[in-house]
This record gives sequence, structure tokens and C-alpha cells, in this order.
Amino acid sequence: MKGFAMISANKTGWLDVAEPVCGAIDAILRPIAIAPCTSDVHTVWENGLGDIRNRVLGHEAVGEIVQVGAEVKDFKVGDICVVPAITPDWNAVESQRGFAHHVHGNGMLAGYKFTTLKDGVFAEKFHVNDADGNLALLPPDISPEVGAMITDMVPTGFHGAELAEIKFGDTVLVIGIGPVGLMAVRGSYLRGAGRLIAVGSREKCVKVAKEFGATEFVNYKNGSIREQVLKTTDGEGVDKIIIAGGDNSTMEEAVRMLKPGGVIGNVNYLSTVKGDYLRIPIDAWGAGMAHKKIIGGLMPGGRLRMEQLISMVQNGRVDPSKLITHKFEGLDKIEEALMLMKDKSSEVIKPVVTIKY
Ligand code: NDP
Ligand code: ZN
Repeated sequence: MKGFAMISANKTGWLDVAEPVCGAIDAILRPIAIAPCTSDVHTVWENGLGDIRNRVLGHEAVGEIVQVGAEVKDFKVGDICVVPAITPDWNAVESQRGFAHHVHGNGMLAGYKFTTLKDGVFAEKFHVNDADGNLALLPPDISPEVGAMITDMVPTGFHGAELAEIKFGDTVLVIGIGPVGLMAVRGSYLRGAGRLIAVGSREKCVKVAKEFGATEFVNYKNGSIREQVLKTTDGEGVDKIIIAGGDNSTMEEAVRMLKPGGVIGNVNYLSTVKGDYLRIPIDAWGAGMAHKKIIGGLMPGGRLRMEQLISMVQNGRVDPSKLITHKFEGLDKIEEALMLMKDKSSEVIKPVVTIKY
């Protein structure tokens, strides 16, 4: 079967790959809607996952089940499912500790399996481990395109809001308003943010951020984010910061804009291309005593999280269709869609590709 793959660093292409094999608790799906992610861009062009070769890309998919393992209880061939980008091994001890993202044996981030540990979803078929624990039925009132946004963009942005511990009335700063940051804006709004300042430069993203609940905007291209934020907050800074974009200097800036007792939640995928370390300024970190908390996390995957987000979409709490700027049809279009995500013109928030059979 064919799959669109990372051939080597900076190189993608179509490959003939082996059909996935279905274990007893697993499922094999064929894609119905798939989306390229900035993480695929980091993986191929920014050494995000190291020296990966000839591995199918993609981790955002709604798919139709074509095979289930003998021990799968709740799903059958023909079911259309939302597949989380993170598919933990739910029997692992780390999952019982609450860190299903970082699973036993394969180590840190090992809940992130597509492309990192096995072929991803940009193929004629793909494998999902622990089908009962990871798949969620796509209800008929949600389109496959919107379902694809629930696999990674919604849960990652919302996780940013969880990590930053947003509380009623907090002044929140969301750095980066690509699709992830936009979902962090919505997540912060839903958790009760008061002032909600969003950092980006593209008009299209600013418009959606406003619709999602952002109240003020800072353009990082107009000068230091820190200076602009301190100016608009009378030098006080903000209670909570979600980092969903920027570079390795963004964390230092964030610490300098955060009030004592504040929290920084990072969901940005940091690249070592521009350095191996983040800097924490000692003065702004209160010589280590300012109660400023920094945490970074991978989105939580799994079935329950997908079902909860599906419920939020069904009940009008979040409308992920606002993220979709480009629609394509046919698996072979994924290449074009990925290039859109890489080059990110002013018109692009998120492309999606649907496949009909
Ligand atoms: P985008 O590239 O679409 O968005 C990035 C945002 O950051 C844009 O708003 C961009 O502004 C802004 N930005 C760029 N440079 C700077 C800067 N120097 N300072 C401040 N803001 C800046 O990315 P996505 O929304 O698709 O993804 C965001 C991150 O989340 C990525 O690193 C992705 O890999 C990661 N991710 C993490 C996951 C997790 O589980 N933790 C899961 C999925 C994704 P503009 O373009 O308007 O100029
Ligand atoms: Zn993704």
C-alpha cells in the first residue's frame, strides 16, 4: 500500500509500505479525513524526532475500521472513529500513575506513536493500538473534517489551558495563535479567563481568536512581546501564560511577563535546531523564590478525552470548523496540504484532506 513518508531529514515522498498488522486488542483503519500538523513540519524539517527514515507521516485522522483484533469489545468493522494523536498503552503502569503519555518501555512521549514509533496515518491504512482504549465513535452530527480537529488541535490547545491552571478572572496571555494557540484561547475562555491577550501576526488568526474569546492582541512583529504586554498591564504582567508558538527565547520572555504565583503552560514543540537549552532569568524568577511555575506537556490522548471533546463540540462549546481554511479531496493531496502547513501563508490556519471510497 502507499503512504506519504519522511524519507530522511528535509525529504518527503510516497513509498510502498507494508500493510499494518492487527494485534488482538488493536484495529486497522482506512483514513476518511486527515490533517497535516506543524509537528509533522518539525519532524521533517527541524529534526523534531531525530533521524527518522522511510516512516509514514501523520497523526491526525478520522478513519473507518477495516479490521479489529479478536479481543476488541466495543468497535467493529465499518465504524467511523476519531483517532487521538496520542494513543497510550492503557495497561502500562505509567498510565495508572496518570502519565499515559510517557509509557513504560519506550520512555518519555511514547504515547505519541504515529511516525515516532511506527507508520503514521497518511497511508491507505493505519494501525491503532488498544482500540477500546483509544478510539471514539464519530457521531453523525460531526463532520469527519471537524473530527480531525478533535484528534490533536482541540486537545492540545485545551491542555495548554489545563497546564496553565486558568481560573475565573485570570489575565491570560496566549503566545501563538496558530490552530493550537487558537484552541488554547478557547480553552482559556471556557475556563473563565478575564482579560485574554493573544499574540500572533496574521489577520486571519486574529479574527478567529476574537471569535474564540480573545480580548486584546499583541503582534510580536511590532516589537518585544514583553514590552507590549507590560505596557498594556501597567507593568504588572499576567497571571497565566500558554506558550503555543515562538522560539527558544519565548520562555525567558514569558517568565519576565508572569506575575509572582503565576503559571506558564507550554505546549509548543521546541526545536533543538536553534539551541539545546531554555534560559530562565534568575531576577524575574525571584532568585528562585517567586512561586512562578513552568510546566510543559504532551496532549492527553485516549478514548475518554476524545468522547469528552466530542460532547463539547456537539453542545456548542467549541467550534473547531473555524480552524479549517483549506479543504482537499483524495489521499494524494496530503502532500500539498503538508506544504501549506510548512509554508504557512497568511491564509492558512489548518488544511484538511478527506478521502472517499
Ligand atoms: P503554527 O505554526 O500554526 O502557529 C504558531 C503561532 O506562533 C503563530 O500564531 C505564529 O504567529 C506564532 N509565532 C511565530 N513566531 C513567534 C514568535 N517569535 N513569538 C511569538 N509568536 C510567534 O503552529 P500550530 O498552532 O500548528 O502548533 C503550535 C505548536 O504546538 C507547534 O510547535 C506544534 O508542533 C505544537 N504541538 C504540540 C502538541 C503537544 O501535544 N504538546 C501537539 C500538537 C502540536 P504568525 O504565524 O501569526 O506570525
Ligand atoms: Zn498534530
